[in-house]
Formats: sequence, structure tokens, C-alpha cells
Amino acid sequence: MFEAGAALKATHGADKVFDFTLGNPNVPPPDSFKQALAEVAQDREIDHAYMPNAGYPETRQAVAAQVAAEQGCPVSGEDIIMTCGAAGGLNVVLKAILNPGETVVVSAPFFVEYRFYIENHGGQMVTVPSLEGFDLDLDALSAAIDENTRAVLINSPNNPTGVVYAHDTIVRLTELLAEKSRAHDRYIYLITDEPYRDIVYDDIAVPGIFDKYPDSIVVTSYSKTLSLPGERIGFIAVNPAANCRQDLLAAMVFTNRVLGFVNAPALMQRVLARMPAERVNIGEYAKKRAALCGILSDCGYDFVKPAGAFYLFPKSPLPDDVAFVRQLQQELILAVPGSGFGGPGYFRLAFCVDDQTIENAADGFKRAIDAVK
Ligand code: PLP
Repeated sequence: MFEAGAALKATHGADKVFDFTLGNPNVPPPDSFKQALAEVAQDREIDHAYMPNAGYPETRQAVAAQVAAEQGCPVSGEDIIMTCGAAGGLNVVLKAILNPGETVVVSAPFFVEYRFYIENHGGQMVTVPSLEGFDLDLDALSAAIDENTRAVLINSPNNPTGVVYAHDTIVRLTELLAEKSRAHDRYIYLITDEPYRDIVYDDIAVPGIFDKYPDSIVVTSYSKTLSLPGERIGFIAVNPAANCRQDLLAAMVFTNRVLGFVNAPALMQRVLARMPAERVNIGEYAKKRAALCGILSDCGYDFVKPAGAFYLFPKSPLPDDVAFVRQLQQELILAVPGSGFGGPGYFRLAFCVDDQTIENAADGFKRAIDAVK
């Protein structure tokens, strides 16, 4: 898609192509970020030495306070490991917990990279379909968890669907995991990948997991909530009540080191310690969501309004989502087929784009659906 997009832009001009393919945030980081960055850069006292592999204590402390507020239970700096984004964090966790051949259960549709991350560390991804509307199918999850399962990995707010799992769903999932852990006499981890936690609409809140299930791990980053994906900064938070907590943390500090990251970027850690609770202007994404939802619904597309993140996952008007994405391409609209996310029959639109891109794509969206009706 990336290459097809580049070719179309070269032929027609970038402003004539409506590129909804990439989850690259276009809302700028808050001013406080630029200010903290300038302050850190001018601080002659800071050193550039090796640091504890888990990160600077003051950064971990500041992040822990943020996580404690989100999870509704005490979390200390020791429970936090700073990472190279959420991608780095997921790899660190998976390398630490997986034995060869063990499975990680994921609800489809899912973030494309999960399979590669899991297979990087000798694991196997088991996917289960979600319910209509993309909620977790707890019966399907239950059937997929067996004596070989090491973790269930969820993502809320979800990429690609924008769904946020409700409190009640999370409670029932954690009850299921507790029951399965007992039945199979092993720790089955609940990993929540939540880089979009703060990008939510209509006052929806993302429920915590630490107060519901001990063997739980949060992985996240500031890639989306501070619009810093190129800076590669994120963290892992381990539930203070986790079984073998010290071993788990030690394993992750070790895997962070031997996967070659050694530690998360120093400059960003220093900046974050000064502004852990800041966020981009979510109102900007809310406006874009409203505009795109309005256009798609006027055209007759069928979709679930996203509760969070900056993606829409409409039903493809053709059963073959790749064919419909080609149809959109004829209108110079670039989207990603749902099949790549384990969601055939759908396509993904990332609305972290200029307002004009959304507005000017309206006619093309209409022509594309009319052409296949
Ligand atoms: N998880 C999900 C669901 C994502 O959408 C992304 C990036 O798009 C990542 C993880 C990776 O995030 P990061 O850039 O912080 O590594």
C-alpha cells in the first residue's frame, strides 16, 4: 500500500491523493513537550552515561504515578520498565514469558505486527473471531485457551476497529483467565497493549486490569498520545500483585538488554519525567472522526463508530476487501484491506490526516460505493 501510494502521489501530486493508510499521528505534540525538550537539551548537568536497563528511576517513578491513577491501585517505579515504544515493549514481554511452542491468544481483527512479534520469540499466535461489533467473544476465547497458552493479548482502544472493551467485558475476561489458570495449573498472562488509551471519545474510559487480575501486564507508548512515534518511547507496567513479580521484572530487564535496545531513549525519558500526564489535543481527532463518520454514513457505508483510537473499520461493500480497496484507489483514496488484520470483508481508514484530506475524499468515497452497488 505504501508503495502504491507513493506511485499515485508521484503521478497525480500528493494533494490529489487521499492517503488513509498510516497510523502516523498528524496532531502535533503539546507545546509543553517542545518546552521540556528544550530545557533538557540546555541542561549542562545531565550525563550521557549508561543507565539502569529499566530506565531512569525518576522517569519510572513519574510513569508509575500515572499508571497507578489509571489502574486504580498502587504502582511503584520498580514495576515500570521504559521501552523503545510499544513494539519494543511487546517484544521484551514476549521474549521474557514465552517458552518455545507456547501460544498467545489474540482476538481478530488485530494489529498486524502481533504475529511477527510472537513468532520472534518461538511462540504461536492463536486467533479467535470477535463478536458482531468487534467486542471480545469470551466463549471463543475460552475454547482457544488450553494447557499450552501463555498469554492472552488484547488491544483497547483497538487498532483497526476503534473498539474500547467495556468494564464488564474485562471483568468477565479476567474471571475466565483466573479459571483457566487454575484448571491448567499455570500462569496465563493478560497483556493489554494500549498505546491509544487516552485517545477516546464521548467521555469513555478504558478500564484498568491490575485491580482485576494479578498476572497482568500493560504495554504502551507515547507514540500516539504525545504524537512521538519516531522517538521510540514507551513502557511496560507489571502488576505489583503478579505471581513471581521479581522474576518477571528481572526477566524483562534482561530481555530489554539482550534484544539490543539496552535501554529506552535517554533524552525522551528525561523529557517525560517532566511531563508524564500531558496529551495531544484529542479534540482534533474527535473532529476528524465526526467528519469522516458523517461522510461515510451519507454515502451508505456500514461501520461501527469508533469509541477510541483514530481508525475506522467499515464493512467492504464487496465481499472481497482487496477488490474494494482497488476500487477506492481508482478514486485516489488509499485504504488498507481488512484481511491483513485478520478481518476480511472490511477495510481500515486511519483518520489521523488533514481535515482537507477527509473533506476532499467525500466524492470519491461516494463514487466508489456507487460503482459496486
Ligand atoms: N500496538 C498497536 C495496537 C499499534 O497500533 C501500534 C502502532 O501503530 C503499536 C503497538 C506500536 O507502537 P509503537 O510505535 O509505540 O511501537
